[in-house]
Amino acid sequence: MATESALDTARSQLRRAVELLKLSENDWQTLSTPRRILEVAVPLRRDNGNVEMYKGFRVQYSTTRGPSKGGVRFHPAIDMDETVALAMLMTWKCALTNLPYGGAKGGIAVDVHDLSLSENERLTRRYTSEILPIIGPERDIPAPDVGTDERNMAWMMDTYSVNAGFSVPGVVTGKPIVLGGSLGRTSATGDGVAISAIEALRVKGISQAGATVAIQGFGKVGYWTAIALENFGLKIVAVSDVHGGVTGFKNVTELWNHFQANGNLNAPGTEKLTQEELIQLDVDVLIPAALADAITQANASGIRAKIIVEGANAPTTPGGDAILNDKNILVVPDILANSGGVIVSYFEWVQDKQNYFWTADEVKSNLNDILMRSFREVEAMATSMNISWREAAHVIGVARVAQAHKLRGLYP
Ligand code: GLU
Repeated sequence: MATESALDTARSQLRRAVELLKLSENDWQTLSTPRRILEVAVPLRRDNGNVEMYKGFRVQYSTTRGPSKGGVRFHPAIDMDETVALAMLMTWKCALTNLPYGGAKGGIAVDVHDLSLSENERLTRRYTSEILPIIGPERDIPAPDVGTDERNMAWMMDTYSVNAGFSVPGVVTGKPIVLGGSLGRTSATGDGVAISAIEALRVKGISQAGATVAIQGFGKVGYWTAIALENFGLKIVAVSDVHGGVTGFKNVTELWNHFQANGNLNAPGTEKLTQEELIQLDVDVLIPAALADAITQANASGIRAKIIVEGANAPTTPGGDAILNDKNILVVPDILANSGGVIVSYFEWVQDKQNYFWTADEVKSNLNDILMRSFREVEAMATSMNISWREAAHVIGVARVAQAHKLRGLYP
């Protein structure tokens, strides 16, 4: 079978939810069509004086339940189709967690490792100014994603604010704390993945203490997931980055210190693993926390984990999913498992609107409440309809968007 694109995957998941909800063909048309798509050229003056052109994207997949919301990805492989797919996932994610948002995604097809810091800043600012007419705290609120972080958000906030003539912190989330960022946002996605993993262990009747975990990815999501799970008493046995994986390290903090100092995971005493070996380790929990298509028809049959918690967006293809279901592996789907990031983004936006900032404990406890409520809703839906957790999560999210569409009616 040909490889499925992220858009094929997202569309087939939506198709299935529409069938399960017995929605009409008209509903499918409405739900499967992105509302607004923007492609921009982003010229960059390199440090050596050359000018290069990059492609930038912003997709506002839905604005039915509120302003659109979603990250900005800097990655060489990003294109319009993938941006649409990821914006669609954001739509169901925000609806599932009941945040008052639609869904969006953006990005630039660029390898950030090729850019100096000042080139990254110029590219980010020019991209922001190209998409400026369609973003804003009431329209569409970008945030970090793969290849971007709080520095990029600071430049985006500044570019928007300079154009507005006053400070507009609520235009992006995931900002540095001093610019109106929220406590707890940096670790939020990983914290949410960890909460999901703990709950999934409960569902499967596996004891939390000493449960084993393999994590693909050691970036913004993978690292914080590892730290949170280690604090919960689980044993992280393997992690990987783009170059491959390692096992045999003493703890995550030591490995992270080595990674920071040397730029690689090969700390003394560790053994190397390939990505495929990591994915097929005999562990309790496997966490894909890197890019799309990590688990496919080609490798799913070799997976021995009892639980998969999707830290990344769209890490499993439908072909891979079918095999995991047959093997009775519990998959906590991306739109639930990694929703901690956008949940705390929502808190950041609320704090910016009110100019009133919460304590770290308030952020943590509100994150826990929303994630646990969503988790229980998905668990109950999966049980009552006898469907997979992915199907259940999509059914809940898609139903909320469909209902909002119906209640708003069609203009004119
Ligand atoms: N990029 C993250 C995600 O995929 C966060 C989005 C946000 O905070 O708006 O969920």
